[in-house]
Amino acid sequence: MADDQGFPPNLSRAQEAAPPPADPAPRAPVPVFRPLLPCVERLLPYLRRIDATRLYSNRGPLVEELEGRLADLIAVPPHGLRLAASGTLALMLAILAHAGRGVAEGARPVALMPAFTFVATAQAAEMCGWRPVFADVDPVRWTLDPDAVRAHPDFGRAGLIVAAAPYGILPDIAGLARLQAETGVPVVVDAAAGFEALCDAPGTVSDTVPMALSFHATKSFSTAEGGAVAWGCASGQRRVMQIANFGFFGTRAARTIGLNAKMSDYHAAVGLAMLDDLAARRAAQAHVADSYARAAQGRVAGRLHLPPRISPAYALYEATDAGACARAEAALHADAIESRRWYGHGVHREPWFADTQAPEAKAEAAGVLPVTCRLCDRLLGLPTAPDLDLASIAWIVAALARAEAEGRAR
Ligand SMILES: *Cc1c(COP(=O)(O)O)cnc(C)c1O
Repeated sequence: MADDQGFPPNLSRAQEAAPPPADPAPRAPVPVFRPLLPCVERLLPYLRRIDATRLYSNRGPLVEELEGRLADLIAVPPHGLRLAASGTLALMLAILAHAGRGVAEGARPVALMPAFTFVATAQAAEMCGWRPVFADVDPVRWTLDPDAVRAHPDFGRAGLIVAAAPYGILPDIAGLARLQAETGVPVVVDAAAGFEALCDAPGTVSDTVPMALSFHATKSFSTAEGGAVAWGCASGQRRVMQIANFGFFGTRAARTIGLNAKMSDYHAAVGLAMLDDLAARRAAQAHVADSYARAAQGRVAGRLHLPPRISPAYALYEATDAGACARAEAALHADAIESRRWYGHGVHREPWFADTQAPEAKAEAAGVLPVTCRLCDRLLGLPTAPDLDLASIAWIVAALARAEAEGRAR
């Protein structure tokens, strides 16, 4: 249901007051994430501007306007945010602009990174010529700990550190900036799902450590496909724009490595229309998180991870062990509720990376990433969406509670 602004209304009071159905009838399947981007009416004013200017790409006026509005939201000067065609490309631009290509780093070809992340973190580094070596994450924060990275056996071979913001949880940016300053090893952050975290903690964007954001449709703020580099460094951001545009800057001479990683003005139109409704969207997301928390009370409370700790693109269930997680997965599946292990079993266990790691690194990864393995074995992505209804949430929590009861009865 959409109002005339194209945005779904917040859940109504009546819905809130209704008790969860005692014996729910068969329901439509619940997808794990159901994107909701601006409707055509909200896009039209922006598309008309494109028709009038005939500027479709190459940093047209809509791209520049979206950059300015996003920079304001994350409290950086206008040059502090540059758009890209996807989050993965934004991460590649950040790596290339800050650390260059790994193949050029003969003695230090390794990029140290977590395996507790989406596979694109490692793919972006590999596409930039770096050899991924995986490090374990902190069990409480779920991110790379700067001191642990420094003590990693492969640190001496590392010419790049790629930290991640798993499920939008930012790593210790100040600690990583210190690590970079003290060791000279460049640090880049894959903060793909970190948009809301950056909005909510002004001052987090660094002048020294670039962060990449994703605006893919499965993220909570989206341009359908898109991404950005957030970085307060003006000269670094000039390199980002140059590399994203075939190495051209000002003239048509290719003066650096380059590719086409630019966002189009059509995609920027989606982002601008989405920003027009950002406050309502964020309120709806907060309401969904709150509904989950209330439905879980006395049942699976304490085992849900919800916004604002994580990005509103996710709702997570943390089972007590791998068996309990499999039971929860099966119970949800039996009720036509989709769930997802967003990070698989860890990037180090993806066939490509498991096979291309040096044999010694592979053996080590299997043995020394206990936190990553434990998290991936226990965490299950639950359905979420800005308009996920209370009845579905009650149904999801009931399935989880049933799986836990089955576990206790065993
Ligand atoms: C979504 C995501 C990406 C990929 O972003 P795209 O915009 O789809 O390229 C990379 N890393 C992480 C951690 C993500 O969550």
